[in-house]
Amino acid sequence: MPGIYIHIPFCLHRCGYCDFCSSLASSEAVENYVKALVKCISGFSVSGIFADTLYFGGGTPSLLEPSQMALIIDTVSQKFPLTSDCEITTEANPGTVDEKKLRAYRFAGINRISFGIQSCKDNELYTLGRIHTFSEALSAIDFAHASGIENVSADLMLGIPHQTLETALESVEKFTDSGITHLSAYMLKIEPGTPFDSPGIRSLLPSDDEVADIYLETVKALDKRGFKQYEISNFSLSGYESRHNIKYWTGEEYLGFGPSAHSYFNGRRFYYPSDIGGFVSDPLKLPETEDSCPDVLEEYIMLGLRMCKGISLDKIRVLGGDPKRVLSVCKKYISAGLMKNSGGNLSLTPEGFLVSNGIISEII
Ligand code: SF4
Repeated sequence: MPGIYIHIPFCLHRCGYCDFCSSLASSEAVENYVKALVKCISGFSVSGIFADTLYFGGGTPSLLEPSQMALIIDTVSQKFPLTSDCEITTEANPGTVDEKKLRAYRFAGINRISFGIQSCKDNELYTLGRIHTFSEALSAIDFAHASGIENVSADLMLGIPHQTLETALESVEKFTDSGITHLSAYMLKIEPGTPFDSPGIRSLLPSDDEVADIYLETVKALDKRGFKQYEISNFSLSGYESRHNIKYWTGEEYLGFGPSAHSYFNGRRFYYPSDIGGFVSDPLKLPETEDSCPDVLEEYIMLGLRMCKGISLDKIRVLGGDPKRVLSVCKKYISAGLMKNSGGNLSLTPEGFLVSNGIISEII
């Protein structure tokens, strides 16, 4: 069953490290965008298929007024009936919510929320350009719980300016003490052309070795606190894995709406260009087809090795690959403790995740 992704390309302030498709919000721009989105979804060529996940990402979807959020959920559910257990997630910036808004979101159908918190240290948050303090982030989690949203995720950033192993582990401790059920720990990547792509910022970053250490110790600390790793950057209490994001890593279908949103449906991959103005002026314009689709086997290996459950030699055979060759490439990584072979199932260890690109390229 497919998942539905909705992109909300607005933020109150641009964080220095971010290259996502978003622009500064004005209430008029958001209103016009919501109207375009509703037209785009209602007029989409496919309808009537059931969906069991709906995900609002951005940008900052929590800039939506509750009535706008409700209108979009309603439009999606008319077009793609949502199952009774549908996971409906919104990403949220802690600096944009209060209890009243989250209660209204809950009423509209939101049952999972993913807060971009990033750190428990206010000096780290300040340098990232976040608009909230850690104490405001904790209040946002409390608002979510009070409004009946118990499935709460938090993003933690690793390898950021000023961060040390101690401050990263303090963040792990404080985040997991806050009552969250899921945590995504992403490593900062300096994107070309962003304000962070500067010598001044690079001089504040921990070294590559320190970042590797921070990642491995974060994995261990989360595990001790009951947050099991299930993907290279994702951890959860049992039963709280992100059902929507798992679709991306297991080759399931999804439909994305809004500029920069990608889809994989009926064996086709297509996307809306990262052009907010173009989307608003012509929301019924057909999405563009991706030029090259990765080979099914390559994609299975690339995506499967992001997940802790890994890839199976049997499936590689079924997809036309050569399991003997794959196993022989992996042997040296297994001996080095970077991979595991559990009865014909190959997976990366946390140490292996740190060098996953090189390993995956060699396997492919
Ligand atoms: S709030 Fe999120 S999407 Fe917006 S600029 Fe910051 S990181 Fe990027």
